[in-house]
Amino acid sequence: MGIRLRGRLGVIVTLGVCALMLFLALGTLNAFNLPFLNPASPTQTLVFITLSVLAFLLFVAVLVLLVRNVLKLYADQRSRILGTRLRTRMLWGAVLVSLAPLVFMVAFSYLLMNRAIDRWFSQPVTQMRDDSTRLAEELFHYTAANARSESDSIALELSDVPMPAGAPARPQQFERVRSVLTRHELTLQGGFAIIFHDDRPLASIRVPDVRGGIVHIRALTPLSPATDDSAPAPEPTIPFHGTPEQTLLDAARRADDPFYTIGGTDFTLATAGLKQGGIVVVGLPIPSGITATTREMRTASSNYWTTFRERRAIRSLFLMMLLLITGLALFACCWLALNLAKQVTKPVESLADAMEAIASGDYAHRVPASATDELGELTASFNAMASDLETAHHLAEHSTAQLSGLNAKLEQRRNELETIVDTIPNGVVTLSAGGRILVANRAFSEMLDPGGQKHFVGLTLAQVLPAEIAETIDRIMRRAHRMGSASAAMEMQSATGMLHLSATVALLEQGASASQATHEELGYVLVLEDATELLRAQKQSAWKEVARRVAHEIKNPLTPISLNAELIQRHVGRLNTLLSEHQVESPSPAVIQRGSEIISSSVQTMRSLVDQFSALAEFPTARPKPADLNNIVENSLALFAGRLSHIRVRLTLAPHLPLIMADPEALKRALSNLIDNAAEAMQDSLLRELEISSRHLDSGMIELSIADTGPGLTDDMRERLFLPYFSTKERGTGLGLSIAAKIIQEHQGTIRAEKNVPAGARFILELKPAPPTEDNDPSTASNIPEPAHQIH
Ligand code: ADP
Repeated sequence: MGIRLRGRLGVIVTLGVCALMLFLALGTLNAFNLPFLNPASPTQTLVFITLSVLAFLLFVAVLVLLVRNVLKLYADQRSRILGTRLRTRMLWGAVLVSLAPLVFMVAFSYLLMNRAIDRWFSQPVTQMRDDSTRLAEELFHYTAANARSESDSIALELSDVPMPAGAPARPQQFERVRSVLTRHELTLQGGFAIIFHDDRPLASIRVPDVRGGIVHIRALTPLSPATDDSAPAPEPTIPFHGTPEQTLLDAARRADDPFYTIGGTDFTLATAGLKQGGIVVVGLPIPSGITATTREMRTASSNYWTTFRERRAIRSLFLMMLLLITGLALFACCWLALNLAKQVTKPVESLADAMEAIASGDYAHRVPASATDELGELTASFNAMASDLETAHHLAEHSTAQLSGLNAKLEQRRNELETIVDTIPNGVVTLSAGGRILVANRAFSEMLDPGGQKHFVGLTLAQVLPAEIAETIDRIMRRAHRMGSASAAMEMQSATGMLHLSATVALLEQGASASQATHEELGYVLVLEDATELLRAQKQSAWKEVARRVAHEIKNPLTPISLNAELIQRHVGRLNTLLSEHQVESPSPAVIQRGSEIISSSVQTMRSLVDQFSALAEFPTARPKPADLNNIVENSLALFAGRLSHIRVRLTLAPHLPLIMADPEALKRALSNLIDNAAEAMQDSLLRELEISSRHLDSGMIELSIADTGPGLTDDMRERLFLPYFSTKERGTGLGLSIAAKIIQEHQGTIRAEKNVPAGARFILELKPAPPTEDNDPSTASNIPEPAHQIH
């Protein structure tokens, strides 16, 4: 954040500095006649122009940038982009706030500039300048007058000294001339004097070094507003020629203004003629500094007049500069205001964008941290809130996913329950608290409307059940209210006959746990169990039991009756023999005979009657006797002759097995049940193999195993296998294995089911061997079959 802000600030500062420098450059280039910017050559002029153009172009570019920003703002405002109104207000605010001081500044500067310009060209200034110029001139003229009087004075003193005409001077003459010059040495003030005769120097004193030439001082040339002397010509130089004296004489003769710079010192020269022929040249030094001051004054004066001539142009230039500065200040204000506004509106825009993004579901959107201060804090808080929202959203999504997972599971459970409820043979109905049917399963529909398509949902029980049944159920519903659940048995006339129903009603409550005090009723569950078949079976078995007992009770007295009848008949026969020996005629024996015969035939009749009762009871008590197990197995298999053709039967019977105590008929029935189950289990198997094996166990028991390669048994099945009525088959009775188990139990043996390897079920029977007697010793028994290893 800081880096970005610093970067932007840097750009602004750089642009500001650039604009200022450009402006200064423009001003400097055009307003001031700076010595280092005075182009002397065409190349310099070209560089100067290029720089000016560049500065101007850059200035225009900055201006365009500003105008672009303002236009963009206007466009934003037209398109109602967030923050533009604030930016516009800030812009107007900046303009208004800066306008008053700017106008004041312009007015004040304008007045000040006018006054300054007026001051520059005011009367006292001009007067002072003219006076000082005149003072300098006077000084010069005073020195020149001094020099003239000095030369005149020397000429006067030499007037009585004869000058040789055309002949070389005698030494005495030189002496006199020299003494005159020596006397004037003091009044010469460090200057020089030379006496010429016939243009030849006779004598001289302190002649300066003129080898560097003699430079004429033109500082005193008068200047006026009319003269265009902005670029003064270089001062003329008299070159060194012949002797120094000769050069000096030339200079003294030539000049109108006898002011020269000789060997670094300024001199004024004067000449005076000698009566006897000859010339005196005197050079007096001008006080040092006067020439430099005069030169400066001259340059200043020249500048002054230049400025004076250009004062209108300068005024308009200053005015332009003032307007330029004002414009620039205004632009700078606007630009600053826009940038400041941007610093506020940009984060606000970003916040608005982020809000929109989050509202449309993009919870990962964050505001770029570009703002500082309060806005920065606001952005940070917003981002924190957004990340909280994102976390909450993720949690909500997670919870929703979990909930939908749970819902799907619940739905699956509900479907499972519905399927279970729909497939159970009992009629199940869910009732609302008001007693209306909410759900009714298929068994219920079948009970009331066999094969029909009637819909019971939404109806009351009184509308679908006979009145007395509905009344009974209503009663047990009320009882269920008190006790939680209640049952009752009832009979109902249906299309298929009389149904014996057992109805159970359970109350459905919300918060039925012990911790909750208030229970809200949700409705009832009514289960109607059709007990018709069960009752029939129960009745049947009761009848069988009665028959078995009656048979047993009747059978008991029949034997003594029959025995006694036979005894009577035997005695009657002996009585008849005795009577015929003694020829006694008696009707008694015949009567007794007939009576006993009637008793015998009646006993026979009753015996067959009892047998019929036994047949009705179906379970004649097993009468175990020593029997060969292998034989019983083979007889059992013989029952399936031709019906096991699709099954590979492996018979592995151990030879020389001891006889077992068994009722062959009953055991055959049990085995045939096991073989039948195995064959049925393998119906859909690829491998169909039935293995029956017998062996003598170490414990002394005889083991018979019947194994198949069917689907096998689950643990749950193994637990319930031998219970009556347990069946997984559609038309199974579930009695086969319970009968087999009962028979084995009567044989004092055991039966169990195990998993077969590699697949299927294995039923293992353990039977008791018969107590060893002479008759049943297998080694002596003649009816024992040979070892059998038959494979069908
Ligand atoms: P039912 O044969 O009438 O169903 P059973 O008492 O004979 O009655 O058998 C009870 C159940 O035991 C059968 O329904 C079947 O599921 C299972 N069962 C019996 N024998 C086998 C076997 N050899 N393999 C697999 N399941 C068996």
